[in-house]
Amino acid sequence: MTHDEEKLLRRAIELAAQARAGGNPPFGSLLAGPDGAVLAEERNSSLTDRDITAHPELKLARWAARELTPEVAAATTMFTSCQPCGMCAGAIARSGLGRVVYALSGEQLDGLKPPGTAFTDAPAEGPALYEEARVPVEGYYSE
Ligand SMILES: [Zn+2]
Repeated sequence: MTHDEEKLLRRAIELAAQARAGGNPPFGSLLAGPDGAVLAEERNSSLTDRDITAHPELKLARWAARELTPEVAAATTMFTSCQPCGMCAGAIARSGLGRVVYALSGEQLDGLKPPGTAFTDAPAEGPALYEEARVPVEGYYSE
């Protein structure tokens, strides 16, 4: 990581502190374009927005998919105070963003939480009803 990239990562940590000061979980992220300029910044707002999806990484992935060309998105880096969760990692993959740099790992974050507070996956069942479920999908991806 370059000195300039460390500065961008420190800014993401600053945004995390701002999120906490504003009554939200302590996470912040930003996007740096191909030339290193900051394109957008976000803070977690899941409590004040009463929105479980209001993670800064997800908000920035949605912004990037909407506002950037695929070429610029691919050359854009997300700097984030913590490794993106599964929800945000999925959105980042769909956004076309080219790279993610994070400070805390998910494991390090879990180490900072009280035991027993990790999220657990809901039980899932499937696949089922393949012959019916494939009908609306067939051909869609080759149109
Ligand atoms: Zn997330």
